[in-house]
Amino acid sequence: MFGLMQDWPLLQSRILTHAARFHGSAGIVTYSVEGPVHRTDYATLELRARKLAQALGRLGVGHGDRVATLAWNTWRHLELWFATSGMGAIAHTVNPRLFDDQLVYILNHAEDAVLCLDLSFVPLVERLLPRLAHVRHIVILTDRAHMPATKLPDPLCYEDIVEAEDGDYAWPTFDENTASGLCYTSGTTGDPKGVLYSHRSTVLHAFATVSTDTLGISARETALPIVPMFHANAWGVPFATTLTGARLVLNGPHHDPETLWKILDEERVSVTAAVPTIWLALLEYLRATGRGLPHLKAVTIGGSAAPRAMIEAFEHDYDVRVHHAWGMTETNPLGSVGTMTAETAALPPEQQLDLKCKQGRPVFGVEMRIVDDDGRILPHDGRSAGHLKVRGPWVARAYYRDETPILDADGFFDTGDVAHIDQYGFMQITDRAKDVIKSGGEWISSIALENAAVAHPDVLEAAVIGIPHPKWTERPLLVVVPRAGRTVSREEMRAFLADKVAKWWLPDDVVMVDEIPHSATGKIQKTALRERFRDYRFDAAATDG
Ligand code: AMP
Repeated sequence: MFGLMQDWPLLQSRILTHAARFHGSAGIVTYSVEGPVHRTDYATLELRARKLAQALGRLGVGHGDRVATLAWNTWRHLELWFATSGMGAIAHTVNPRLFDDQLVYILNHAEDAVLCLDLSFVPLVERLLPRLAHVRHIVILTDRAHMPATKLPDPLCYEDIVEAEDGDYAWPTFDENTASGLCYTSGTTGDPKGVLYSHRSTVLHAFATVSTDTLGISARETALPIVPMFHANAWGVPFATTLTGARLVLNGPHHDPETLWKILDEERVSVTAAVPTIWLALLEYLRATGRGLPHLKAVTIGGSAAPRAMIEAFEHDYDVRVHHAWGMTETNPLGSVGTMTAETAALPPEQQLDLKCKQGRPVFGVEMRIVDDDGRILPHDGRSAGHLKVRGPWVARAYYRDETPILDADGFFDTGDVAHIDQYGFMQITDRAKDVIKSGGEWISSIALENAAVAHPDVLEAAVIGIPHPKWTERPLLVVVPRAGRTVSREEMRAFLADKVAKWWLPDDVVMVDEIPHSATGKIQKTALRERFRDYRFDAAATDG
């Protein structure tokens, strides 16, 4: 027997119309690409999204068509998200930091009919366009006054096409499982793979992200998602703010610590989210300038492991609560967040900090299991590390236009991460399966070593890779970017790490570099580092393991 409740499809347009009706005057602030600070609100955003839907319809965009964006976090980008998905088309966010060949592959694979780009990406698209097979219209996300001189054929001016419409448009109703967004993972090997979100997955995910136990985005907060809208939907923050009517601040193309601090301060941002590299630079800036974060209450850190020193700095030095989160493009992206339970909040502060360094507890909607190489489910003992698998209503079940099955017999998706789960339910990523260091038949966690190393006062950033070893198969090499004017030595680092990790985990050598390579989503590029140190061999005398 079915329940007798209404079947009201969970459509993204309904989030927006709710915000327009009940939080119409809540602000959306953008530090724009053109320069000035732009201010709008949810009511205006909804009206302009309707006009944009009319304009896109006029360009021939129909149900299921892909509209690509090469764009920063701005109000126009948000209008595009809601207009395309609201009309039943698909918002395809493209990461402009990828290599040309990857971008060409992605745009051709997605068969995007319309390409919308910020002014910053005009030269990029001028270069790529001859190789793009399907793009019929180019829309430049600016007003008439800022339209650039460009080689691009018949570029449309965004403000012109929006303002030419009257907004007399009603959001259509359709199945909530309809595709709404498309985002390719920037996999380090093989071709990028398209994750195709649905209205249902995005709306359910938005409900999950607003809660106090996850990102804590209530109607009283001002949220700044620094994580780009092209990186797993800015972790869903713009949907979360629209759902609750929180004030939304967008940083446009600005990622330098000085401007980010200015935005946090001027706009009195209370919650924010970004990858550790952004926070590393901001904390350095705060230390150097003596500035503080008086308005900020909580920061979500994810995408890569948040080092202990970073969590401590936010919580102790700046009184900002850290939400250490884990997720992936394939999980919409939120999977787990490290907020305390009644039980863990009663633990001594040091033990709570230990827990905050982990990647957190699964949110309802993401089931997690850890399995060994033979698929056996491992216990939640905080030690048994294995392959992290997930399933749930906002976890991918297939990649876009790809027949390869990605789920196991129980419907779980293998994340490619290695992790353990403790008795409190806190999951800790110990590595990517391909980055784990296999030494003498055991696994050394490169992430744990990196986190321990960055606690050293002279270390700005650290990465650990496995180097082939005749006796142990692989041994860890610690690659360090020292703080300005400082140096670190092998002996010093090994002594520093000696009481923090098992003796057999200690890196066999330490090398200093000027810079550690990062991927387009801010992760350490282990493949590039391994390539750089391909011919590196440990000095025989130093390799006792
Ligand atoms: P992406 O799809 O680009 O968001 O990358 C997802 C991957 O980032 C995950 O599979 C993890 O390997 C990594 N990741 C995300 N969050 C964290 C975190 N808090 N700590 C460690 N790794 C993370």
